[in-house]
Amino acid sequence: MNASSVLTRIYCDADLGAGRTIDLGPGPAHKLRAVLRAKPGDDILAFNGRDGEWRTRLHDISKTKILAECREQARPQHDEPGPWLVFAPLKKDRMDHLVEKAVEMGAERLIPVITQRTENRRVKLERLAQQIIDAAEQCERLTLPALDAPVELKNLPAMWPHKRVLLVAAERRHASSLPHVLTGEHHALGLLVGPEGGFDPNELDWLLDLPISKPVNLGPRILRAESAAIAALSVMQALNGDWIAHNENI
Ligand code: SAH
Repeated sequence: MNASSVLTRIYCDADLGAGRTIDLGPGPAHKLRAVLRAKPGDDILAFNGRDGEWRTRLHDISKTKILAECREQARPQHDEPGPWLVFAPLKKDRMDHLVEKAVEMGAERLIPVITQRTENRRVKLERLAQQIIDAAEQCERLTLPALDAPVELKNLPAMWPHKRVLLVAAERRHASSLPHVLTGEHHALGLLVGPEGGFDPNELDWLLDLPISKPVNLGPRILRAESAAIAALSVMQALNGDWIAHNENI
């Protein structure tokens, strides 16, 4: 099945452990059988966000299920703390892109938020959940970021941990630049990005008055919402996130 030596990674719900036989379920079964042309005897890597990553051998392959046997743990489980991303839902392709990249950038939690100018108010959570799985499989994460149901912006403060700093990407305001704000910032972080039409000025005033929030600017150009999220998450991970921690471990 694998032309390269990199094994296919599959997310599954089942508990993983030495000698366990698991049913990978219909989604992975379809992907492995129809898309990747997997055969009995092929090995894949399975992870469930709890038990680490397991080298797993495929046995019975049918249209709706694949039975597979966990052989050895390839990587132990570890936490993957990261920034939380609060974003106004976008149109389909742009939101898919945003979610995929946020997973790759190590976001720990994704919170769709309905702002005054949010155009897409019907978020298909199942579709986003599948995007998350696909991206996590591809980028070798051991966890999936949590995905919240959409919240109204006015309800965000009540659910927000007061020790996590919410960086509000505030276009057209005299906010400090993101790298500047990150210097010396050691709290866990969240990032809030507005919709395509931007924040309503009163809404932004209200946001910036919250004790949890700090405004940040992302440079002299106005970015599309998904560009703003991806760019800011990269800078956050590079300056005080897991890009640094990762290097220090090598
Ligand atoms: N249509 C709006 C721009 C919205 S950009 C306008 O013309 O004013 C979408 C979101 O991306 C914004 O709400 C903001 O959160 C973020 N963003 C884009 N560019 C930014 C910048 N230079 N600095 C800070 N935030 C930015």
